[in-house]
Amino acid sequence: MSEDLIFDIKRYAINDGPGIRIVIFFKGCNLQCAWCHNPESISGKIEKMFAPAKCISCGSCVEVCPEKAITLTPEGILTDGDLCTVCGKCAEVCPTKAIEMSGKQMSVSEIMETIEKERIFFDQSGGGVTFSGGEPLVHTKMLIELLDECGRRGIHRAVDTAGNVSSDIILEVAKRTDLFLYDIKMMDSGSHQKWTKAGNGKILANLKAISEIDAHIIIRIPLIGGVNDTEKNIGYTAAYIAGLAGNKKEVHLLPYHNIAQHKYSKLGKLDDFETLRAPDNETLIRAIAKFAAYGIKAEIGG
Ligand code: SF4
Ligand code: SF4
Repeated sequence: MSEDLIFDIKRYAINDGPGIRIVIFFKGCNLQCAWCHNPESISGKIEKMFAPAKCISCGSCVEVCPEKAITLTPEGILTDGDLCTVCGKCAEVCPTKAIEMSGKQMSVSEIMETIEKERIFFDQSGGGVTFSGGEPLVHTKMLIELLDECGRRGIHRAVDTAGNVSSDIILEVAKRTDLFLYDIKMMDSGSHQKWTKAGNGKILANLKAISEIDAHIIIRIPLIGGVNDTEKNIGYTAAYIAGLAGNKKEVHLLPYHNIAQHKYSKLGKLDDFETLRAPDNETLIRAIAKFAAYGIKAEIGG
């Protein structure tokens, strides 16, 4: 059975498919969206996260580090990234969780054991498991094994994806998926490249492909002020969705907010928060009306 890197497991989730769900977050993505709420999901490697405000300068991490990568200075601790092997020993001894490691290697059986513990909530609420990320579809082998195992056990399976993979992969996954939560960011491929570091050709083609087999799809559109909330982009997106085959489609609009800012600073990453903003209410109302004009019911959130 496969193993892969998981960066989070969220229980009692109610916004990632029907009912009460458990969400399994794979670490590693093939897009780099400037507004990503989970910046720790992008790299497919274990990462060290540090929150200076939580550090009490106890020195435990300095003592335990086998590589002598950490120095305690009057301004707090400093880690030499060239020496650090991300072994995680410093996080184990940190009393305040100022240091945390993101990413844990887990096997299919370990994940299934975790999923099974939630079964009572699935049964009572019509819930199940949602595989998210990062991008679950780039973890193809592990994802397919998990989907098959959940299928054997009668557990509802949702896959939260941006669809930027080959059509073979998505069609293979679709055979064992009850619901896709499918992200569309913007229709212009050049802008998509600028904001996510990849064009949208495969994404749109794959959405078309799974629509043609009448997969159950909730299309999720993150709406970011100054990026994709223009009349033109919303109109093109609505027209595209209206032209897709299949009957089981809903649209959820996800207004941007900058709740992930602290995560970027913990990872020592730069963010785009200066240029990104939440869309205003007027824009959201106009977007809903635009989708309605194409016969599509769009709702906020979900
Ligand atoms: S992760 Fe390991 S090598 Fe890196 S600073 Fe912590 S203890 Fe040292
Ligand atoms: S172990 Fe944690 S609290 Fe102590 S110095 Fe290191 S980071 Fe700060």
